[in-house]
Amino acid sequence: MSDQTIRAPQTVTRTARPRDENEEPYLEVTDLQVQFPTADGMVQAVQGLSYRLPLRRTLAIVGESGSGKSVSSMAVMGLHDTKTARISGSIKVGGREIVGMSEKDLEEFRGADAAMIFQDPQSSLHPYFTIGDQIMESYRAHHNVSKRKAKDRAIEMLDRVGIPNPQRRVSQFPHEFSGGMRQRAMIAMALVNDPKLLIADEPTTALDVTVQAQILDLIADLQRDFGSAVVFITHDLGVVAEIADDILVMYAGNAVEHGPVDKILGRPLHPYSWGLMESIPALTGEPQPLHPIPGAPPSLLAVPSGCPFHPRCEFKDRVAGDLCRTLKPELIPRTIDQGRASRCHLKEPDRVFDTEILPRLP
Ligand code: SF4
Repeated sequence: MSDQTIRAPQTVTRTARPRDENEEPYLEVTDLQVQFPTADGMVQAVQGLSYRLPLRRTLAIVGESGSGKSVSSMAVMGLHDTKTARISGSIKVGGREIVGMSEKDLEEFRGADAAMIFQDPQSSLHPYFTIGDQIMESYRAHHNVSKRKAKDRAIEMLDRVGIPNPQRRVSQFPHEFSGGMRQRAMIAMALVNDPKLLIADEPTTALDVTVQAQILDLIADLQRDFGSAVVFITHDLGVVAEIADDILVMYAGNAVEHGPVDKILGRPLHPYSWGLMESIPALTGEPQPLHPIPGAPPSLLAVPSGCPFHPRCEFKDRVAGDLCRTLKPELIPRTIDQGRASRCHLKEPDRVFDTEILPRLP
């Protein structure tokens, strides 16, 4: 297990909102590949990722470090340097193709149509400029308005994200804000132009539990108000249970399981998802994985043949013909529930989960 311990859902608090299969996706990722050529060979960071996300829906992308969750989301934002990354496939946001878009168009797209918030607000907030100046700059980059109007908008956004006394706070510097307030300020800056797509990359990991809950509530409220599509990247299944409509589980650059939150957390069908649920820390005391997945995620320079999870999978010998070591499974729809899919050769994974995994879960 990597150092990024997967945390458990204490309860699945959310039932996925019914999915309308005919609903137009706002974000549509099709067969996305992201590779990085290096002196040691090609890093296969994302391999053939596809998903669709309509407005007003939240997709949680879950996986260990190096699973491809952040790399794929940075590709959606057009944040990779095309001199060092090879990107193919298609990423459509609001009908516009992002792969191959010019840097000038990407700059317009980022901030206006899509925004990203990170775990560390310091990476987005400049220490030498006031919070207000930074929000105003984001706003004025996409709106031809006076400084006065931009400042009013900055104050309005700080108020909207729950910062007390925004008229005074707007003139303060990042170091004068607490960690939770900096996170709120970063969200205010990300949302100042009403983007329809918000990508949140582990935005609550560094925060204490109370502030984390407040930030999750805030993101859910803002999503409701702004009607955005949200991609939430996390290793915390507790957060997933609270905020997501759908889950995409990634392993070694591949989607291995995808579907509605209550179905996937209630009855996952992929051995890697089982491993995530079993390796949760104790609910009290120091987080200690109870039943860690053996081994470590593979190097993306040498992804294993066949199923990339096979070196760590305790079920590979149940599949006939050495298939797990030789043939990569497709991500196939599972008829057990509508809208879910998993990438595994195992027959009747639902029965294996019910009889063998469920009794082992903490
Ligand atoms: Fe395990 Fe085989 Fe399924 Fe891969 S395909 S998860 S190795 S059972």
